[in-house]
Amino acid sequence: MGEYRRPRGLREALSILSDGPWRPIAGGTDIFPARAHAMAWGAPTPENLLDITGIEELRGVSRGADGNWRIGAATRWAALRETVLPPGFDALRTAARQVGGRQIQARATLGGNLCNASPAADGVPPLLVLDAEAEIASREGSRRLKLGDFILGNRRTALMAGELLVALHIPAHAAESPSVFLKLGARAHLVISIVMVAANAAGRVAVGSCSEVARLWGAEGGLSPIDDVRATADYRVAAAAELVFRARESLAA
Ligand SMILES: Cc1cc2nc3c(=O)[nH]c(=O)nc-3n(C[C@H](O)[C@H](O)[C@H](O)COP(=O)(O)OP(=O)(O)OC[C@H]3O[C@@H](n4cnc5c(N)ncnc54)[C@H](O)[C@@H]3O)c2cc1C
Repeated sequence: MGEYRRPRGLREALSILSDGPWRPIAGGTDIFPARAHAMAWGAPTPENLLDITGIEELRGVSRGADGNWRIGAATRWAALRETVLPPGFDALRTAARQVGGRQIQARATLGGNLCNASPAADGVPPLLVLDAEAEIASREGSRRLKLGDFILGNRRTALMAGELLVALHIPAHAAESPSVFLKLGARAHLVISIVMVAANAAGRVAVGSCSEVARLWGAEGGLSPIDDVRATADYRVAAAAELVFRARESLAA
């Protein structure tokens, strides 16, 4: 068995992380299913877990004096669902209502969704549309990256050893632009996305589940979906185009 720690402050957490191989854990809704799967196949799971849910600085949504917004990385989907926010956040709040079911939303965090870096992570397209930046910290200091530079590929992020995702930062102008989120799955609820689209009235559109990392529609590289158990690549491309159309129609209406 590995060790378990639950620090109450960011400084303490970063100090523990700098000390050796600790894995941050927030809601555990990605970590524990993966561990159960690995253990079922006989793999040892000795990693040390650093529970970040006790750290106040990592939670909540706030607005700075400059009008820009900050979302703590350990903010739960349920909190995003319930918080009253300007229309730019409508896409993110709609995604919050559709991640898993109520039990998942009560535990799982936005930061966990981003750091897990699944191509089907519902949090990514709404944050791309919001032009979000990721704030990362280690004991040595902090840095910021555009979300598109933070998530590098399937299950790959720019996080280095000793670093935590601390918050997402959203510029004031993006928060005011009405937005929508449309998710297509094999059924209406409790489903992993086949395709999802976020769009805002300023013309930003992002598509997820159609490439290793969700992308801005029309951006270089385009869509590169795969065939998998949920859908074929051709179906995904056609569905993405339809959802983009519907998202734009919805915003125009
Ligand atoms: C039944 C079920 C349904 C689901 N449905 C959906 C769905 O509809 N849509 C969807 O997108 N996802 C879904 N998920 C996946 C999961 O719930 C989400 O990705 C969730 O947001 C993960 O958050 P968490 O806090 O539980 O992450 P955790 O499991 O705690 O962590 C995930 C990863 O991120 C790392 N991490 C977490 N926080 C930080 C941080 N601040 N800094 C650095 N690293 C960090 C961890 O080390 C780990 O690698 C589902 C999962 C389950 C079990």
